[in-house]
Amino acid sequence: MSPEEFRNAARAHSEWIAEYMEHVREYPVVPAVRPGEIAAKLPSVGPEHGEPIEQIFADFQSTIVPGLTLWNHPNFNAWFSASSTPPSVLAEFLMAALNVNAMLWKSSPAATELEQVTLGWLRQWLGLDDRWFGIIYDTASISVMQSIGAAREWIAPECRTKGMQPGLTVYVSEHTHTSAEKAAITLGFGQDNVRRIPVDDEFRMQPELLEQAIEADLAAGRRPCCIVASIGSTSASAIEDVPAIADIAQRYKVWLHVDAAYAGPAAIVPEMSHLLRGVERAQTFVLNPHKWLYVSMDCSVLYTTRPEMFRRASSLSAEILKTAEDGNVVNFNDYGLQLGRRFRALKLWYVLRYYGREGIVAMLRESMRLAQMLKGLVEADADFEIAAPVPLSLVCFRHRSSDEVNRQLLSDINASGKLFLSQAILHGKFVLRFAIGNHQTTEQDVRESWQLIQQCAAKLAVVHK
Ligand code: PLP
Repeated sequence: MSPEEFRNAARAHSEWIAEYMEHVREYPVVPAVRPGEIAAKLPSVGPEHGEPIEQIFADFQSTIVPGLTLWNHPNFNAWFSASSTPPSVLAEFLMAALNVNAMLWKSSPAATELEQVTLGWLRQWLGLDDRWFGIIYDTASISVMQSIGAAREWIAPECRTKGMQPGLTVYVSEHTHTSAEKAAITLGFGQDNVRRIPVDDEFRMQPELLEQAIEADLAAGRRPCCIVASIGSTSASAIEDVPAIADIAQRYKVWLHVDAAYAGPAAIVPEMSHLLRGVERAQTFVLNPHKWLYVSMDCSVLYTTRPEMFRRASSLSAEILKTAEDGNVVNFNDYGLQLGRRFRALKLWYVLRYYGREGIVAMLRESMRLAQMLKGLVEADADFEIAAPVPLSLVCFRHRSSDEVNRQLLSDINASGKLFLSQAILHGKFVLRFAIGNHQTTEQDVRESWQLIQQCAAKLAVVHK
């Protein structure tokens, strides 16, 4: 591609992106496509000869976009609503052009140093002291796997040479994100060695039951290794009693990982700083800028007070990777499985600088205000009920009738293409989850979404009479 051809194509692409961002509400948030429909429109063998970029771009618009679920849409309120803000999009563009690999300091000094600097800023905004060492991974799933790997190194260092040892046990709650259990499976702990501690009425791990489970395991000669506590659980955004869990972790010398993948950024808001109570006694803490900190997929930040455990668990010295600066610099590949690492710090830096702490606090506060507003709308409608506390920006609710009606309601809402919600089972009942967090979601969006939900419910009521 000649520089001229690239310039023209880049202009056309950036124009399309700007138009898309401006008119995003005109697009359906969920596509009305059947499995296989998109693939059927594409050739089953790759092109023998190169094709013009204009043609590829045209097919992207006509074939691919209509088959996309639009995560950056203000009415995407499923799972956890996320944002790829304009500064993050611009940084991704630069990252692709530079194709930097942030594996070693030497492989791109500014990438490593920017990662250290931006994670230092974020750490200060979160009120964490300078004992915390930050690392960017792709996702919270990888972060928790690396953390449990470091925990194993701490409790049973012989695993590194001899392989997995019997009886090492991981503690999660019934509502902990499945990534923790997946990590335990991947690392060879085995599902039988994951304890799922029951939750209380507000979906929080019960510390007394955690302690009982640890006592029982010790009595049986097992080795408690890691506890995963959640601040902002996936189903219901429950905030667990981290100080009480940290007491237990300390008493029994068990590694504590705090999963704040979604909720962590909210602690930047001064009146929400209590969210991180107890975290100062954890060994690791994760938050995802790609969930609620306005950075595009993917970007997960893990902080640890025990970086040497990550190095001991993950580093190997290969001749080809040795550099003259070793010993004086951080080589981030030493802290995880991945050698090649994307330059994710650039998009975090762009976002933190463009909005500033003040701008980010304002956006986070607005999401939480809209969630309280929606909670009020649900409570004001006698046909609906709130299904879980709303401490942050997730509203769980249900129609007061049956699970069957709620399932159909979710299906009808999502089929409208105007709103995308997800579901959870809370206290044995099917509930709808409305997650707010996209930077473009306005009060009007939320009010219109609530009207749509009410209209869908009213139509169902007629059918079920
Ligand atoms: N932890 C929590 C609380 C989550 O809600 C999620 C995903 O929604 C994860 C972890 C996993 O995040 P990721 O997709 O970054 O692996």
